[in-house]
Amino acid sequence: QAEAEARERAQPAQTRDGHRVAVGGNVNNPDQVPLALDQGAEGVGLMRTEFLFLERGDTPSEDDQYATYSAMLKALGGRPLIVRTLDIGGDKQVAHLHLPREENPFLGVRGARLLLRRPDLMEPQLRALYRAAKDHVPADAPKGKDAPLSIMMPMITSVPEVVKLREICERIRQEIGAPEVPLGIMIEVPAAAIQADAMARHCDFFSIGTNDLTQYALAIDRQNTDLAPEADSLHPAVLRLIHMTCEGAARHNRFVGVCGGIAGDPFGACLLAGLGIDELSMTPRDLPGVKARLRASDMAELKALALRACEQEDAAAVRALDTNAPGA
Ligand code: PEP
Ligand code: MG
Repeated sequence: QAEAEARERAQPAQTRDGHRVAVGGNVNNPDQVPLALDQGAEGVGLMRTEFLFLERGDTPSEDDQYATYSAMLKALGGRPLIVRTLDIGGDKQVAHLHLPREENPFLGVRGARLLLRRPDLMEPQLRALYRAAKDHVPADAPKGKDAPLSIMMPMITSVPEVVKLREICERIRQEIGAPEVPLGIMIEVPAAAIQADAMARHCDFFSIGTNDLTQYALAIDRQNTDLAPEADSLHPAVLRLIHMTCEGAARHNRFVGVCGGIAGDPFGACLLAGLGIDELSMTPRDLPGVKARLRASDMAELKALALRACEQEDAAAVRALDTNAPGA
């Protein structure tokens, strides 16, 4: 029984008509990698590095960070790892950085905005990442979606931010003599989704942060419990932004993942696959349910379903399209 379940978890997320969706775990710590692999992760689609800062009372040094990234790469044994650079601000406050208090931290200096203002935080992190790439990524390693290491920038709003970050990465990569590492951006601000085609020109891949994209599209604080039922990532407005992101990426042949919470919802995963998402990364415990649901689906049907979902008037109407829902 247990063996049969383990075999099932190890199967790819491939629809009945042969369309494969890549699946990863959201994992921050090398110790959690074996559990994620056991749940059926094919890699790590999101490593949130702010946890390295939040878990301790001080800033980890470049060497500390190098050790952690190296341990992640070793634990994954060549499977893909997407490391997101520091996403501090908003809901992720780090007391020991003594950043100025803001009236509206979710609309303030967070993610890439902070990185660009604080080279003292960004550069050691990038050096640690490129050193890890130099030491642990073989020259003949796969490129693109299967690359053993990718770097991703959080909370991108504008093209010039991407251009600047890319230049900084390239300078540091050359200083270290590291191999090229795919450079992606989070799509979690509506402006970035709307301009996905322009964004795609300047980076190698996207990962959609549906938690923030929902918050910013619906103007609902992601931490407000009163409004939580309305902050549904399957709202048609959010789905349309995801659809625009996929279309913009497709124009430049970039791959698109989703690493927000809705990727771990079996019905949400079906809609995302139907919209053209290539990779889903989630809390490891959600992997078996998502894989099972995708494996029981047909891509042709998911595409039609996703387009119908975008045409609905509200999130409840989208959820009513789920024929597997209890009571449906
Ligand atoms: C998101 O916004 O969906 C996301 C994955 O990033 P975080 O939850 O860390 O903001
Ligand atoms: Mg986010």
